[in-house]
Amino acid sequence: MTERIFNFSAGPAVLPVPVLEEAQRDLLSLPGVGMSVMEISHRSKTFDEIIAGAESGMRELLNIPGNYHILFLQGGASLQFSTVPMNFLPADGSADYVITGSWGKKALKEGKKVGSVNVAATMADGGFTRVPSREEMNLNPHAAYVHITTNETIEGVEWKREPEVGDVPLVADASSNILSREIDVNRYGLIYAGAQKNMGPSGVTVVILRDDLLQRVPEGLATMLDYRTHVENKSLYNTPNTWGIYILGLVCKWLKDKGGVAAMERENEEKAQLLYDVIDSTDFYRGHADADCRSLMNVTFRLPDQELEKKFVSEATAQGLDGLKGHRSVGGIRASIYNAFPRAGVEALVSFMKDFERRNG
Ligand SMILES: *Cc1c(COP(=O)(O)O)cnc(C)c1O
Repeated sequence: MTERIFNFSAGPAVLPVPVLEEAQRDLLSLPGVGMSVMEISHRSKTFDEIIAGAESGMRELLNIPGNYHILFLQGGASLQFSTVPMNFLPADGSADYVITGSWGKKALKEGKKVGSVNVAATMADGGFTRVPSREEMNLNPHAAYVHITTNETIEGVEWKREPEVGDVPLVADASSNILSREIDVNRYGLIYAGAQKNMGPSGVTVVILRDDLLQRVPEGLATMLDYRTHVENKSLYNTPNTWGIYILGLVCKWLKDKGGVAAMERENEEKAQLLYDVIDSTDFYRGHADADCRSLMNVTFRLPDQELEKKFVSEATAQGLDGLKGHRSVGGIRASIYNAFPRAGVEALVSFMKDFERRNG
């Protein structure tokens, strides 16, 4: 097959075609280098430029202030579930976790292994359909940090604005909505995100970290798990995922050419609205998340029964709409429509949904 189909996968996910084309064009030899990016030393001048470009791309796109470090690590967002508490949850302290879905639950599980945690709020009872209000959160003013998941990829629940946490550092798992909308980085102590949803291939984790927090890191952590190691060595203490960082840099360039995050945000709102309009116009499709917290990146919905959901997925797949099956833990349908997902694919899904309802509703 040489035709590209519409890839609604939650991650690893669709990448911009111009990025894939540039990577393909330069795969055997980077211009002026005579070697593939995968074959050069991570200590070479060429790679220095590549990682500096990725960093400045991120910094520019998210307007990241100078007192924040940008790291390119490995181990996925999942390793950050452990490294965050190892670095920032002291033995005599406690951290607040706000649980709005499956990934938040996983972060909490790892936090508990390291120290004392307080579930400031969990939306599990309602089946993770929304984020809590300020009144519903039992925040500890002396917490080491407050952990949130800015977009719950499985349930399709997104914080539309950060919770007010006062002087307590806000730590965010932004794996599935980083670069999808404008944020004020100053509101956060630390943001982490696996690249494979909205930034590049799997195998790179971006960590954006406020400098003053490094003073809180305890002595004696394993070198690779100590954020200071990666800050001091500019993500080059060991061999990083050179290929992943290269692609991430190209994705940043592509985003800048498209008008940056603000332009992307407008496009994402329009794309998601096309799907939510169909969902809202009928009882046949039922959105999972409450309207004011539904995700622009992962649109989750149910059909009247599981048989119809199965049929929906298999017929959609046959028409080149791939990856629509909801996560195995929640079922239903999930359309992941990250930055690189084309509007034409959303429009194709909209017509498929209308047609499917006509035939089965
Ligand atoms: C995908 C995802 C993760 C897990 O990322 P890995 O890179 O596979 O560890 C964590 N959190 C969120 C919100 C995700 O979407």
